[in-house]
Amino acid sequence: MELKKQDKQIYSAITGEIKRQQEGMELIASENYVSRAVLEALGSVFTNKYSEGYPGKRYYGGQDFTDVVETLAIERAKKIFGAEHVNVQPHSGAPANMIAYNAVLQPGDTVLGMDLSHGGHLTHGHPLTLSAQIYNFVGYKTNQAGEIDYEQLEKLALKHKPKLILAGFSAYTRQLDYKKFQAIAKKVGAISMFDIAHIAGLIAGKAIENPVPYFDIVTTTTHKTLRGPRGGMIMCKQAFAKAIDKSAFPGFQGGPHMNNIAAKAVAFGEALKPTFKSYAKQVIKNAKILEIELTKRGFKLMFGGTDYHMVLVDVMGSKGVTGKQAEYALDEAGITVNKNMIPDDPRSPMDPSGIRIGVQAVTSRGMKEKEIKMIAGWIEEIIIAHNDKKMLTQIKKKVTAFCKKYPIYPKV
Ligand SMILES: *Cc1c(COP(=O)(O)O)cnc(C)c1O
Repeated sequence: MELKKQDKQIYSAITGEIKRQQEGMELIASENYVSRAVLEALGSVFTNKYSEGYPGKRYYGGQDFTDVVETLAIERAKKIFGAEHVNVQPHSGAPANMIAYNAVLQPGDTVLGMDLSHGGHLTHGHPLTLSAQIYNFVGYKTNQAGEIDYEQLEKLALKHKPKLILAGFSAYTRQLDYKKFQAIAKKVGAISMFDIAHIAGLIAGKAIENPVPYFDIVTTTTHKTLRGPRGGMIMCKQAFAKAIDKSAFPGFQGGPHMNNIAAKAVAFGEALKPTFKSYAKQVIKNAKILEIELTKRGFKLMFGGTDYHMVLVDVMGSKGVTGKQAEYALDEAGITVNKNMIPDDPRSPMDPSGIRIGVQAVTSRGMKEKEIKMIAGWIEEIIIAHNDKKMLTQIKKKVTAFCKKYPIYPKV
């Protein structure tokens, strides 16, 4: 290997990371393991190429193969999601959202988006983001029953007359009512947008209903449940196609990362296979088992459970352990999760009341109901023993041995 000879420091960091990914239990809801084929495309010579513009309309020569790759990525995405128009150039989810906003909004325009502590995403109007400095975001929330409060959403829409109504979330776990959402947007003449970053793979695998036909604009990441390379994508109705493309380039980005787009195309090819359908179904089955097993053990799940790949657990409310303490203890025992705010969290973002747990990555490794039950058992043991270093080390041994049985890259 060239890298091993040339750069020992980076080489050893990479081998360390392979070992970490192999031996640890990855339960962060936004991560996954891409296939070897996706990794190969990502590490290909396409990284050498400038290709500003779009297939057939580039600013540089030598585009014979970049055009093939980008066109295939677009065609496959259209087939998966039934989209009228697709742009595969956004470097990631956050830029995809900025590109979409920039395509349809003027500075100062009002956007209705979901409150961060209720499951929304930073890019949906958090004060620390650039978008919140440019646009006027108003947040809607979930109700006592743990569902999006459509009544409040409608009231806010009538009051603020937003130009854009935004659905999408990173920690909310219930199926969105596409029709209700759409009706509210229509009533106030707003553009509707859905950021499906977390659930794109579940949609691609037909485990949940496809929202793309219902919304004017749909943005996503490609690296979460969709199991592609780190990246973003925008789908939209034909009426917005020109504005989206212009906003991506030259509006917001320069040259597309064509190695990344090649990897997206490979991942989309995988998502079109029947095996991806079984994967998406198993993810939802596994999340349901996790919901049942954690509830049995006295954990309080927000939003009353899950319809997707993850659960949001109020560890403070149910076990008297903060999100930060829980994340740390689980980490010590070989299980990776992230601390997360719960709706209207009285605690701070750096030490909130909850943790978020996703099963999409362990499902990629072949874990099923039986394994999820064991994981739920360990989570309980770890939370109870969160101050007991010796106990955590003992559990880590078991977790590591267990993980070794589920290779992230089999048949090496
Ligand atoms: C993850 C996520 C993003 C941001 O994606 P990045 O690739 O990290 O920029 C945007 N929106 C939602 C809803 C997300 O969950």
